[in-house]
Amino acid sequence: MNNANTITTPIFTIGYGQRSVDALLTDLRTHQIQYLIDIRSQPEAPHDTTYSQSALRQSLESQGIRYVFMGHTLGGACNGGDPNAGIENDYEQGIIRLQKAFQQQRRVALMCREGNPAHCRRAQVIGRTLDGLEIPVRHIDESGQIIEQKAVSAPPPMPDDPFGDEFESWLLTDYDNGTIFYEAPLAEMSGDPAAPFLPDDGLPPLPAFPHDPATLLRQIFGYDSFRPLQEDIITSVLDGQDALAIMPTGSGKSLCYQLPALLLPGLTVVVSPLISLMEDQVTQLRESGIPAVALNSSLDYSAYQWTVEQIRAGTVKLLYAAPETLLRPDVLLLLEQVRVDCLTIDEAHCISEWGHDFRPEYRQLISVRRRLPHAVCLAVTATATARVRHDIKTSLSIADANEFIASFDRENLFLAVEPKTNTVAQTLAFLQQHRDESGIIYCATRRQVDDLAAQLQSHGWDALPYHAGMDTATRQRNQRQFTRDDTPIIVATVAFGMGINKSNVRFILHVDLPKNLESYYQQIGRAGRDELRADCLLLYSYQDVNTINFFISQQAESQQRGARLRLEAMLGFIETNECRRRPLLAYFNETFAADGCEMCDNCTTAPEALVDITIPAQKFLSCVKRTGEIFGTNHIIDVLRGSRATRVLSQGHDRLSTYNIGGEFSKKEWQYLARQFIQQGLLVQDPTYGSLKLTAKAYAVFRGENVEGMMMETARRETTAALPHDAELFQRLRAHRKALADAANVAPYVIFSDRTLVEMAAYYPQSNQRFATLYGVGALKLEKYADSFLGIIRTYCAERGIEEKRRPAAPGSGGGNGRSRRQEVVEMWNEGSSLDDLAAHFQVKFSTLLDHLWKTARAGETLRPDSLLAYADVSAADQQRALAAFAAHGPDFLRPVYETLGETVPYEALHVLRLHHVLNNRGNG
Ligand code: ADP
Ligand code: ZN
Repeated sequence: MNNANTITTPIFTIGYGQRSVDALLTDLRTHQIQYLIDIRSQPEAPHDTTYSQSALRQSLESQGIRYVFMGHTLGGACNGGDPNAGIENDYEQGIIRLQKAFQQQRRVALMCREGNPAHCRRAQVIGRTLDGLEIPVRHIDESGQIIEQKAVSAPPPMPDDPFGDEFESWLLTDYDNGTIFYEAPLAEMSGDPAAPFLPDDGLPPLPAFPHDPATLLRQIFGYDSFRPLQEDIITSVLDGQDALAIMPTGSGKSLCYQLPALLLPGLTVVVSPLISLMEDQVTQLRESGIPAVALNSSLDYSAYQWTVEQIRAGTVKLLYAAPETLLRPDVLLLLEQVRVDCLTIDEAHCISEWGHDFRPEYRQLISVRRRLPHAVCLAVTATATARVRHDIKTSLSIADANEFIASFDRENLFLAVEPKTNTVAQTLAFLQQHRDESGIIYCATRRQVDDLAAQLQSHGWDALPYHAGMDTATRQRNQRQFTRDDTPIIVATVAFGMGINKSNVRFILHVDLPKNLESYYQQIGRAGRDELRADCLLLYSYQDVNTINFFISQQAESQQRGARLRLEAMLGFIETNECRRRPLLAYFNETFAADGCEMCDNCTTAPEALVDITIPAQKFLSCVKRTGEIFGTNHIIDVLRGSRATRVLSQGHDRLSTYNIGGEFSKKEWQYLARQFIQQGLLVQDPTYGSLKLTAKAYAVFRGENVEGMMMETARRETTAALPHDAELFQRLRAHRKALADAANVAPYVIFSDRTLVEMAAYYPQSNQRFATLYGVGALKLEKYADSFLGIIRTYCAERGIEEKRRPAAPGSGGGNGRSRRQEVVEMWNEGSSLDDLAAHFQVKFSTLLDHLWKTARAGETLRPDSLLAYADVSAADQQRALAAFAAHGPDFLRPVYETLGETVPYEALHVLRLHHVLNNRGNG
């Protein structure tokens, strides 16, 4: 008899029917199945090879589920052959094993082909036998729900049914005769001598984890160095000091509690608001050999109970739970009974009514915290104003918590903004630069999502839509297609993205203006989590601004001001001529100290690209004047380019002297120029209608004053990742990863991130030792995947005579051991490395290195003097003139030197020469 305290785990049955392997695994996971017993007569599936024995075994095992083939013991002979040959004995052995599993309370599911259990004689017969043994049987039906065995209608008896009533009663009698303890040899049972059958522990035994964070980082997670703040936060947690960490999306918050979880003797509880997010993390952790479980409302009672047992038994290190689950009295009681060492609150901003995502149940987490006074509390979130930070601390009563606020600068995101002239054409052009890459296109409305997705599909791009107006099943399918790399492009509204952990999102395209920088930042944050370069392009038009303004005007009076100011900041970001990181980070109260970032459109347009744009300015401005200063940019451009649009003709603008005098520039190029005219204050734009008016400065231009500006360069965006690598090998490795992922029914990035594959294709590792040094390769992944990937790399290298390359100790971004990149550069420089060495080691451009060294020099820190003249690409005479000019003007500003030299020595060379100058004249003034 069952009551709430002694819950019995039944034996499950499941038939895959029309279900995909994916769906089957989901159902198995939901019910926390540990062993799948294949009772098909033949472990093959000619019509769907994903169900063939080897593929199925791989898929299951990747999820930590054991596969056992029992065809010949649990009814194989009913499929042709002689029904009486030895079957009784085999069947009995099979049932005995099941009985043993039941006694040990294993979570076992018997699998056959028929989705409906009433259609499978084998499942029926076994079910009835078990029923007779008082072993409860539950069927997991095609919608993942549980049906009681009794509710499964019996199939009509078949004349040739070898499992007739007679046979069944024989079996029961035999059981009564006491052969129940008979143990059949393993090999016979599973069809695989190596496969252990139903061992005594539930999850795999706890691995012995190394004891210091740095070793753990390498061995378990496969990373060389901590990202900024990670180490500090981990230290705080391990020291038992509460902490509040504010780190941007993709910066590696999870590691801050996952790693200490392995070092703390007790359990780490992670509060997480989204079930999908929890499941994703649990899968990824298990993939790295870390025992983790989740408790949430999607588990049925017995799965729930199983999880609870695992927690009680101390076999898990991390427990993810929804706040409402944690607040249940039985869960609170459970947590008090086990040792909880760390309570992590993920997405902690949900606690504050002032945050953008308030969840009332988060407020009550204080009662969880009170019950666990000895657990250290770590609150993490990506966005939090001072107000929200304060709220988090008071709500959790962690007033003394250490605060860690990471930089919001995501260095690997290339930021660009372009005026929107033609959404589809610009989107296609952008995608063209990102062939074979995966990314998200954000639109403002559902309708636009559907339209654009259809347009892209009609142009042959593999893109799927996603928005909240779609039915749940389609939406989930599309999301899954995307996260699993089956469909590279998703066109979506802002509804898409929460809980997407995919690390190889290579681009984010906004075809509409986000309503504020918070949203923009959150959306671009989904790109480049693997630290490889990702491209973010934002298309804007003043129509978008009007639309947003309109929506703001519909809001409550009290909210309008704030919303307007946020829009204002968004416009500041769009229209800036400076590094885009400046206004972006300023918005998050962070000052961007560097001169430029090299990773935005404005920074990569070198100063020497300034050209004389007086003539186009005069044309444009006079066209504005002649059309009466009441039209917007597009109309002016139409007139300049001689458009036959009705709008132009009906106004008689084809008769103006400025009609058709601007054919030398494309519409897009004119847009680009017009933006500069606005920025330079030659024109003002009406904020509501977008119409342009001349300023006093414009009249100065008519009188002959020069205008300097930039011409649009179309092909300046690099599309390759920062680390040079072998593209062909990369494709092969990627295909292999995809095959493994599909077989295991997980997303490809769960196996390895793009970054790991890029490193394989850059360093050509030939041995396990070398493979183990790659980014993202921990001990378990090494064991699981090294052989197959190495096989591909070796073959590839052998065919071409390519040799292994040494991987630099700590390439990539992010300072190791809390040191900044600049400190690392300076250290190597002082030890004698050349600029070439450094560029190769850190995979960065000279200009970045020069910037680091220059800042160090300016800060008065020690730098090894060395000649850099070889790097200044101008004549020796020019070099000497420049050095003399630096001696005269001082090194602080480049512009006076540039002008003194008659603007003949490019800025690029001046940067080098300035550094040469300071390195070799230190102490002399
Ligand atoms: P967040 O939760 O802050 O959005 P995640 O914790 O999901 O970010 O981390 C983003 C990505 O960075 C993940 O793929 C993670 O494995 C990776 N990562 C985390 N820490 C490091 C590190 N020290 N070195 C390299 N990669 C890391
Ligand atoms: Zn920049």
